[in-house]
Amino acid sequence: MQSLWLIWDLLSAPQKPWVQLLSNLYLHGDSILCAHNKRGVSSIWLSIIKALPSLREGFKPHLGSGASSLWYKDWSGNGLWCGKVPFVHIADTNKKVADCWVSGEWSFNALYTVLPTELINSVQQLSVGNSPLGLDHFAWRGDISGCYTAASGYRFLTPGLAAEGDAIWKKLWRIMIPEKVKFFLWQCLHSALPTNQVRADRRLAESGACSRCSCPHETILHALRDCPYSREVLMSGGCSVRWSFSVMDCFQWLKGIILHKDSITLSITLWWVWHFRNNMIFNDELWQISVVRRKVILSTVENSVYNAKRRL
Ligand SMILES: [Zn+2]
Repeated sequence: MQSLWLIWDLLSAPQKPWVQLLSNLYLHGDSILCAHNKRGVSSIWLSIIKALPSLREGFKPHLGSGASSLWYKDWSGNGLWCGKVPFVHIADTNKKVADCWVSGEWSFNALYTVLPTELINSVQQLSVGNSPLGLDHFAWRGDISGCYTAASGYRFLTPGLAAEGDAIWKKLWRIMIPEKVKFFLWQCLHSALPTNQVRADRRLAESGACSRCSCPHETILHALRDCPYSREVLMSGGCSVRWSFSVMDCFQWLKGIILHKDSITLSITLWWVWHFRNNMIFNDELWQISVVRRKVILSTVENSVYNAKRRL
């Protein structure tokens, strides 16, 4: 998200000192959308370059008056045109973008420089505006205003989550389970449950391996479902409980649990599976499966008593 702000600034705020500094150092007239990795660059630049592939689609060129240099400014988002041709004919060096926009369409026939067909095709979706004052710039696709906002950035980066997420979040806050269990599920849905792999991904742990079995990656799915210890707890609950062992996407798996008709029991079971794991790792104490089951049953009964009282 932070990188999106930086890229937006690089595209829209050339007057900012840090933008000028980075542009002079690394871009040399190119737009940030065409930037490449180089050796010995600063860490801030590296983070921008890393984020670029998933963000490039979010920006589209928007031409104002077409006053940009045809060759020496990246107005189309494809990179500098001077680098796309063998050489720029001397008669064309001062050409502006607007010089090739004639009667509402592109016309490159008057140029002495020969342009590759792909380059011409790549700008057919663009048009030069009518206003002589409009600046050529890049607009953000994620918001109707064309300006970047944090909320639109989040929606853009997580389209699936935003669209299908609504039903899950609504259901999650409606399930009649203790708040601590809701928060636990919320952490899981946000990939924020501190399993070893999640901690290793955030540089909080050296290894992401499971501390209980030989699995090299203790993901959330592993900790709650696939680790043999966890699986034993889940399997001990009887056939009526469906755990979807074949689903490999954690969000989809949790979605199935939250939208399940037995979501209360399933959620409370997962809560105890997680504590079973923590107790084993941090207290060096291995609960028997029957003990975990008893805890699940006790919590479920307590929860239904609490809910029944709440309804009175
Ligand atoms: Zn394991």
